[in-house]
Amino acid sequence: MDGSQGTPGSREAQGTARGETARLEPYYGGSGSGVGAEGQDGPPPAVRVRGLWKRFGEQAAVAGIDLEVPTGRFVGLVGPNGAGKTTTLSMVTGLLRPDDGAVQIVGRDVWTDPVGVKSRIGVLPEGLRLFERLTGRELLVYTGRLRGLPVTEVDRRAGQLLEVLDLSGAQHKLVVDYSTGMRKKIGLAAALLHNPEVLFLDEPFEGVDPVSAQVIRGVLERYTATGGTVVFSSHVMELVESLCDWVAVMAGGRIVASGPLAEVRGAAPTLQDAFLSLVGADRRAGEDLDWLGGGDR
Ligand code: ATP
Repeated sequence: MDGSQGTPGSREAQGTARGETARLEPYYGGSGSGVGAEGQDGPPPAVRVRGLWKRFGEQAAVAGIDLEVPTGRFVGLVGPNGAGKTTTLSMVTGLLRPDDGAVQIVGRDVWTDPVGVKSRIGVLPEGLRLFERLTGRELLVYTGRLRGLPVTEVDRRAGQLLEVLDLSGAQHKLVVDYSTGMRKKIGLAAALLHNPEVLFLDEPFEGVDPVSAQVIRGVLERYTATGGTVVFSSHVMELVESLCDWVAVMAGGRIVASGPLAEVRGAAPTLQDAFLSLVGADRRAGEDLDWLGGGDR
């Protein structure tokens, strides 16, 4: 396992006061121009995170995490509610500025080379905001053009993605009228359109029906089979266990375990069991509620 815990208070030790402008120095000293980190052999990992911190008031939502995600993997980021998954993904994808630490995506620093990084990643963020007054197809064409793809290629890819994701029938409907699952799918299509090297998905299966989930699964499996890296957050252990070959477990703003699925699961019968013992969950929760259920009201 190569996940590790940060040192609580290390940010204070560096004199960064809460509310100050974020200070972020690339851990590897990269200018963002080179592929491959200094002093490293071989291709850089898909994601490299060092000493990442984010505080909201007194609370450390992300408390100094280190993480290295290899390329071409299907990666699950799991953790209980409030563990810090969304905050981590937001910082890793350049949507939220960390208080401290550094992030590299395929060897490029997220904060010193934002364009280099953003052209190589696709993101399906939590609470995805879409251009509601465009139709599904218009949204894809607009996204593709913003990404610099030629019109004919955008058209071809958009048509294929709409077809595969079963949105062809709704392609001329305004996005504002899409259901939750349809929004997830059009958001995924927009994230895939430019064929990114790394795809970050925050709860991609939430609100998605089983048939659509199977379709999304197929698309993502094809993507990783041909070298793409998927990093997605989820609470659903069975899903993570059946999809992912690499997992990172977060709790209390820290990475408590990370590595190949079999390694993190260890001797536990399922990932769910390993997860519950890693996050110290109380399996007897609810036993104190002796008034709940049948009997006296
Ligand atoms: P969930 O699985 O419930 O979505 P999560 O693992 O994604 O949770 P985060 O959303 O990253 O967790 O939140 C981590 C902690 O940071 C939580 O305690 C949350 O209340 C807090 N937090 C997140 N964003 C903010 C914010 N903008 N302001 C204040 N606190 C925040």
